[in-house]
Amino acid sequence: MGAKGATVEFRSVTKRYGSAIALERFSLQIAEGEFVTLLGPSGSGKTTALNILAGFTDATEGEVEIGGRTVTNLPPEKRNLGMVFQNFSLFPHLTVFENVAFPLRLRKYPKASIHRTVMESLETVHLTEYAARMPRTLSGGQQQRVAIARSIAFRPPVLLMDESLSALDLKLREALQAEIKRLHREIGCTILFVTHDQGEALALSDRVAVMRNGSILQVDTPQAIYDSPAHRFVAEFIGNTNILPVQKSRAGASVIAGMEGSLTGVGCGHISLRPERIRRVAENDDLSRLIVAKGHVTQVRFRGASVYCDVLLPSGHTIEFHESRGEGRPIPAIGDLISIGFHPDDVVIFGADT
Ligand code: ADP
Ligand code: MG
Repeated sequence: MGAKGATVEFRSVTKRYGSAIALERFSLQIAEGEFVTLLGPSGSGKTTALNILAGFTDATEGEVEIGGRTVTNLPPEKRNLGMVFQNFSLFPHLTVFENVAFPLRLRKYPKASIHRTVMESLETVHLTEYAARMPRTLSGGQQQRVAIARSIAFRPPVLLMDESLSALDLKLREALQAEIKRLHREIGCTILFVTHDQGEALALSDRVAVMRNGSILQVDTPQAIYDSPAHRFVAEFIGNTNILPVQKSRAGASVIAGMEGSLTGVGCGHISLRPERIRRVAENDDLSRLIVAKGHVTQVRFRGASVYCDVLLPSGHTIEFHESRGEGRPIPAIGDLISIGFHPDDVVIFGADT
């Protein structure tokens, strides 16, 4: 199906608005055909990065390259990027067909190929039978699929999507996520996707760049971001986690506040421990290689396939753990005194400076 992706590179891009910094020395290299997501809270600079790549905003400093070519001085229409925004942004007075045909007419495609190309694009989002409809007669999800068809009609080597699914409800969002994945496989274009939804980022991306205050804190595969967060902020932003202080015991070992068993080779700082890595343990289990603690259950959240519990340790720290069901043991109850344990390898350690 035609055009493959192009490489994209941001080289130390900074954007200032007066004294406010929207993007600070932002650097990112994206391979041909790669699916990379910028993930971060509102205001972290995601849209600014996309707008600078697209040419809608000028960088204060730094360069952007597409396909190995510096595009800093190229106007947006010469950058040949596909874009999908959050709010559908279809032309309300044009039919679905004409919306998708718009970028082709703009690029002076021959008349004969416009019809075929539009119908092919609508086919990829399963909307061929809607070609003659007006946008307002479509649901939100269908309108967003038209916007996607329009953005890929001219087979751009790079597709930018800014919170493109965020306005849709969960079921629809998941259905469109699957379609975007399929489209990406079919077309092979490079995708730079923006979201504040960590689940969406993990599910879709080859790599995720986690942003805060205009900078990338970590860029890695979804699994590495989840399992080996490089910063406490990343650990807390992605999924659930327990952050606990590390202290020195009287014997000089590094211990987690309120727990028995020591960590190896750490000074002070914090640990992150995923709730699903913690399990309930019994007196007669082999606890020699585990870190263990005892506490009272203060919260129980029944989730169907699993149960989420909060346990208050004597140190005053509360720890969350997730237990999957079907192990034939009763669900903990509020007030129960229970023992929990986990393997030291499942702990991610942050030094005092992260
Ligand atoms: P995100 O897309 O991650 O929510 P943005 O890139 O939109 O973040 O914004 C990053 C920061 O830059 C925010 O603090 C925002 O207020 C600021 N900002 C964005 N655009 C402008 C502008 N035109 N003028 C002043 N400040 C701006
Ligand atoms: Mg934004």
